[in-house]
Amino acid sequence: MADVVIAGGGPAGRALARACARRGLSTILIDPAPGRRWRATYGLWADELPSLPESAVACAPSRTLAFGTGPHVLDRQYLVVDNAGLRTWLDGGYDVFAGTVAGVDHGRLGSSVRLEDGRVLAAGLYVDASGARPRGNRYEQTAFGAVLPAEDALRLIESPDTAVFMDWRGSEQGFLYVLPLGDGTVLVEETSLARKPGLPLELLAARLRARLTAAGLTSRGREERVRIVLDVPVPRRGRTVPFGAAAGLVHPATGYSVATSVRLAESVADAIAEAWDRGPAEAASAAHRALWPASARAVHGLRRHGLRVLCGMPPELVPVFFDHFFTLPIGLQRAFTTGREDLPGTAEAMSTLFRTAPWPVRKHLIGWRALRRSR
Ligand SMILES: Cc1cc2nc3c(=O)[nH]c(=O)nc-3n(C[C@H](O)[C@H](O)[C@H](O)COP(=O)(O)OP(=O)(O)OC[C@H]3O[C@@H](n4cnc5c(N)ncnc54)[C@H](O)[C@@H]3O)c2cc1C
Repeated sequence: MADVVIAGGGPAGRALARACARRGLSTILIDPAPGRRWRATYGLWADELPSLPESAVACAPSRTLAFGTGPHVLDRQYLVVDNAGLRTWLDGGYDVFAGTVAGVDHGRLGSSVRLEDGRVLAAGLYVDASGARPRGNRYEQTAFGAVLPAEDALRLIESPDTAVFMDWRGSEQGFLYVLPLGDGTVLVEETSLARKPGLPLELLAARLRARLTAAGLTSRGREERVRIVLDVPVPRRGRTVPFGAAAGLVHPATGYSVATSVRLAESVADAIAEAWDRGPAEAASAAHRALWPASARAVHGLRRHGLRVLCGMPPELVPVFFDHFFTLPIGLQRAFTTGREDLPGTAEAMSTLFRTAPWPVRKHLIGWRALRRSR
């Protein structure tokens, strides 16, 4: 019997597998295609994951800009992840099986993990890190991107070494995301921040092609399709421990989760290891507590509220809203985007936005103030 069986070999599953193995827990990771490379282009803020080694960084753009109606230079280092490097860093100490988990039965002494091919694995603790699949009518971030040679991208951006976190100019329905990939190419992605249901990818693809055509460009390289469920509810406590996107770790207003999952893997594994001798039910409870302490639940509630407010805002005001967001002190920007357990910082960022926004935007943020007062 393995101590821990983890379904899902994405960044979250592998980070937790490594962290559990390092604490002396025998760990098995199951994924339908464990050798398949990760295709998504992952970006994160350097301050979110200071432990990230250089080998896991594909590119550290020299500066990062954001545009609402006008430009803002962001005083924060953005990084593009080298997926192979990240995987290598997260490797080691655990066994990897090819397979698909079909179900799990929990007993007093452990769990039986059933695979689609009929195999059954005995586990002390079962972790579901199988990602978040769109279910029902949910808020989604969708995007369609194309990878261009840097010299072509220069027709759309000033410098091939600059990341553009969001550029709302020219479209109120979404923004352009631009990311140098560190190999002489640049990803340009037409993005719909949040919508319920997500804006269809064909629409974003058409918009991107129109933008490229207007710049005299055609896309012949790799394309990227993005669909991220934003409002995964906080999971119920039980014997299955969810992790990563499956555990609602995706930021409801930004769609990010990679840095959070990799960072949180350490404290969740600590909690599991510390409770291990008290039995599987206790270890699962300890993992749930480490994943979703009261402060993180409260911040998640504020972020989900922020998501709903943004989605309810008239499209022409969204770029104005972001002009204000990006003039917040960087500490408050960081609190809102990254401070998962920073309730005072998140509330302060939201109330400062409310106080400083022009009246047409503020009118739509009134719910934020009411929420802060009710705390
Ligand atoms: C194209 C794209 C770009 C993104 N860019 C960013 C970004 O820049 N920054 C950021 O922070 N986030 C980004 N995200 C959002 C999010 O962080 C990613 O979705 C991330 O991959 C989530 O990691 P995860 O390990 O939780 O899940 P996943 O990466 O989805 O991994 C889940 C794994 O579980 C496997 N699996 C599924 N079902 C089973 C089963 N029954 N049994 C066993 N295994 C199973 C899947 O095959 C998969 O390998 C992006 C998402 C997409 C789609």
